Amino acid sequence: MALSLAFACPACGGAVEGEVGATTAAMRCPACQHDTPLPELAGLVASRRADVCPVCGSTDLYQQRDFRRSVGLALVAVGVLTGPFTRWISTAVFVGLDALLYLVVPPVAVCYACEAQQRGFDRKAGPRPFDIAVHDVYRFGKRFPPRRDLAVAGPRARLLLQEGKESPS
Ligand SMILES: [Zn+2]
Ligand SMILES: [Zn+2]
Repeated sequence: MALSLAFACPACGGAVEGEVGATTAAMRCPACQHDTPLPELAGLVASRRADVCPVCGSTDLYQQRDFRRSVGLALVAVGVLTGPFTRWISTAVFVGLDALLYLVVPPVAVCYACEAQQRGFDRKAGPRPFDIAVHDVYRFGKRFPPRRDLAVAGPRARLLLQEGKESPS
């Protein structure tokens, strides 16, 4: 599985997304044509560990199941369709589904600082699950990624936006 990357463009905030390879040095924003350099990418393609964010340089990442596509929606539909009469059956089915989904739904690695997403890495070698304590460290500005100015998305950016201290670039 090829490695792919999705992140917020540091210049305009738009979505930049696509497959990357060992020779990818930067990705271009389709909206504003800004090139975002990705210095750690070659190492990530080689290691498949998703242990560093190639956008902001942070080494704090977490992994979760990638429900962004239709699987999550299909599950919701199943839940709506099963009434109380079949609840015990559907519970058993859901337990089975959950175990199955763990096997078939690929993981996504997310950067705590800027929320850049990596897909296609090795699940077993990838980062740990989400930890609210690490999230808060970034949210309240107690830790910053090496390339702080490139982390335009993420918990810190949202907090500043809420407080009106900084306008979105
Ligand atoms: Zn852009
Ligand atoms: Zn990042």
